[in-house]
Amino acid sequence: MFRGGSRGGTILMTIVCIGQPSWAFVRATFAQQRASNTISLPRRHAPRFIGNAVRFLSSSSKDDSTSSSSTARTATTTSSSIFTRSSDATNRMKQEAEHQMELLQDYYSSNAATFSTATTTKPTSWTNPQRELLHDSPTDGFPTTTATTTTTTTIPTLWTTHEEASTYVEENIDTVLFDCDGVLYRTLDLCPGASECVQGLLNQGKQVMFVTNNAGVNRRQLSAKLSKLLQLDCLTEDQMMSSSYSCAQFLQQQLLQLLPAPSSSSSSTSSSSLPPAPPPPRVHVIGSAGLCDEIASHGFTVTGGPRLDEPSSMTREELAAYDFDDNAQVVDAIVVGHDTDFTFRKLAIASNLLLRNPNALLVATNRDSFDLVGDDGRQIPGNGCMVQALEYCSQRRAINVGKPSRELARLVALDHPTLNWSRALFVGDRLDTDIRFGNDNGMKSLLVMTGVTTANTLKGLGGKGTVEEPLPHFIAPYIGLLTKKE
Ligand SMILES: [Mg+2]
Repeated sequence: MFRGGSRGGTILMTIVCIGQPSWAFVRATFAQQRASNTISLPRRHAPRFIGNAVRFLSSSSKDDSTSSSSTARTATTTSSSIFTRSSDATNRMKQEAEHQMELLQDYYSSNAATFSTATTTKPTSWTNPQRELLHDSPTDGFPTTTATTTTTTTIPTLWTTHEEASTYVEENIDTVLFDCDGVLYRTLDLCPGASECVQGLLNQGKQVMFVTNNAGVNRRQLSAKLSKLLQLDCLTEDQMMSSSYSCAQFLQQQLLQLLPAPSSSSSSTSSSSLPPAPPPPRVHVIGSAGLCDEIASHGFTVTGGPRLDEPSSMTREELAAYDFDDNAQVVDAIVVGHDTDFTFRKLAIASNLLLRNPNALLVATNRDSFDLVGDDGRQIPGNGCMVQALEYCSQRRAINVGKPSRELARLVALDHPTLNWSRALFVGDRLDTDIRFGNDNGMKSLLVMTGVTTANTLKGLGGKGTVEEPLPHFIAPYIGLLTKKE
């Protein structure tokens, strides 16, 4: 029997036992049974329950206002069950992010003297992507930064209040570029203050863009998803930069601009004397329908994609008999996006297409190792796993067009020629993609603790980052801090 009661701020408990001592359960149990001062749960869960209960009680006064306002907001904006679920998950994310920040504050403050002299190796001086475009050589389609330099590193500035974060953004930033998953939402659960943050920045006249390595959606789908999740009706497709879009744009630059330009209607040459127009380039896709649609909409013939009607396996005999000789097997590029139906058969066919089309481009929408789903942070394998599988068996190296690649920076520069990179802030939850993309391209970078990166990740890097995993300029628990509290 576990019986709990509150008297003069002291909690007395007796155990009985039925239930799951999760954080949500603790909150619900206290809310429902506070009046009776009696709580029931399985005896084996008592230690974890007590731990969560102590956390709950120590933070309940602070959270009550947040929780109630969040619930009220949810009630007035939508009756959808996914947002009701988001309210609980959002609160849980907020508490976990604040806990991670506390760990970081302790870590950086206790090691401040050591870190002030730490050095790191970084890429050489940054080149503005817009300037790079002006001087780009047509034969040099894949610029890379190879030279490095060693400098003293400054540890990140930790933002823990609305005042310090929002004041910096208000005074120093014109454009905010958001990663999506782990920053604005996790699966369908909103991150704390996400909607208010984006709306607040737009109200201040800031330019807002969304840059995601998710290739499963095209720009229209991404805009619709964000509008629904954030409850904003002012978002437009030209603010969206999904890696499916960057992939299609890259293929267009590499393959379609090499084709002869179509004749104009004012040409004196009769159409009957013109040679037949070349067929559109063929792109074989390992990826989703959204990725295939985006590539097809840019003028390509797409093969592959979701093939739920075909078997997942392929025997040696089947592969030996597979017809690679018809025209359908001539491809100009192979694209690997995130394919949740990735199979041995797809891998075997793509590998042999590369072998038979040695000049075909091999393009990766991103090289992410994993992402998080659910409010307890389960890992879902990322596109990088599939890219590396194909790279290994084909002995080819893929061109990455997602974060942190220069290809993506060049595309952002082309689409937004007036962007002032030095007054832009990139907000993300990954060091190897988001923060590196921001730092490498002359932006300020902000890491939020609602996604992939944990305090332990940062502790492992000490006071200096690496080229692959650089430290951000700023760290905040969640993006809600970027605008002033209402
Ligand atoms: Mg992310």
